[in-house]
Amino acid sequence: TRTPVNVTVTGAAGQIGYALLFRIASGHLLGADVPVKLRLLEIPQGVKAAEGTAMELDDCAFPLLKGIDIFDDPNKGFEGANVALLVGARPRTKGMERGDLLAANGGIFKPQGQAINAHAADDIKVLVVGNPANTNALIAQQSAPDVPAERFTAMTRLDHNRALSQLAAKTGASVEDIKRLTIWGNHSATQYPDIFHAEIAGKNAAEVVADEAWLADTFIPTVAKRGAAIIEARGASSAASAANAAIDHVHTWVNGTAEGDWTSMGIPSDGSYGVPEGLISSFPVTCKDGKYEIVQGLDVNAFSRPRIDASVQELVEERDAVRELGLI
Ligand code: NDP
Repeated sequence: TRTPVNVTVTGAAGQIGYALLFRIASGHLLGADVPVKLRLLEIPQGVKAAEGTAMELDDCAFPLLKGIDIFDDPNKGFEGANVALLVGARPRTKGMERGDLLAANGGIFKPQGQAINAHAADDIKVLVVGNPANTNALIAQQSAPDVPAERFTAMTRLDHNRALSQLAAKTGASVEDIKRLTIWGNHSATQYPDIFHAEIAGKNAAEVVADEAWLADTFIPTVAKRGAAIIEARGASSAASAANAAIDHVHTWVNGTAEGDWTSMGIPSDGSYGVPEGLISSFPVTCKDGKYEIVQGLDVNAFSRPRIDASVQELVEERDAVRELGLI
């Protein structure tokens, strides 16, 4: 029998946590044959609700779920963690400036990075979901100098999945016929969903669409502002789709991308495509044997270049702001 994989989830009592934990426990995160132990991390006020979720998890009698522990101390929550999903974050509230938001999140992600550095397992893989995800991931990564930087990633898979779905609807294709789509940059309204290298049933997606106005005026803003549209419709932010994307991100990272396809992940830049080294930016990546690699050699055209640059510029500004705050 396999040793259970320790999965730490922060913000476990939140909306996304509620949609995420049951799927981890039922084998969707790592595989149908991989036992897991859950370590739920919450702030003290969230512990009681997390206990309620844990009771429901017990009541599912998931064969793969080998234990649930609940913590309000990151040093304990990340002990022995093989996978960490950092979901809990300080949301932007009315009247809050970006600096305040970054400072509040620095207060969360810095100690969590330090706790990961000190207590996580050697093979730790981290996914940051809580916003601003890329910069929160950067803060955690910079606070964990003994962990290889590439183990810290930020989620742009929801943007990727949203783009797949919009492109499928526009062209009448099925999502599984679409390959090689890319989200570049920040998980924010500046992100750039790129279809110029994508293929739909083997044909170039931009040629199939053949409508640059649709790309610029409909596709890109629809993908980038989808979160706000969901809040408007549902009266609450997206949760199940965000949880689904977190599952997809880790599953692909661990189990690999399909031959001939790639995915999008926010990862520390190695300088590729003009993205300053060290920034956590979304790139096209292939995954194999638990490791990812940036897809190299793509031609970035005149439509794409300024859009990638604008999103990367926002990441530079966020990095500079957290540097000024002494968080990195
Ligand atoms: P959610 O579970 O809905 O969201 C959690 C985080 O995910 C937010 O930062 C949210 O960003 C982000 N997010 C990223 N992508 C998406 C997306 N596509 N749709 C929606 N959200 C997205 O928040 P809740 O308020 O329900 O729960 C948060 C929980 O975290 C609470 O239980 C709280 O106690 C806990 N918490 C735990 C901490 C810890 O463990 N140390 C620290 C802080 C909070 P955005 O705000 O931009 O929507």
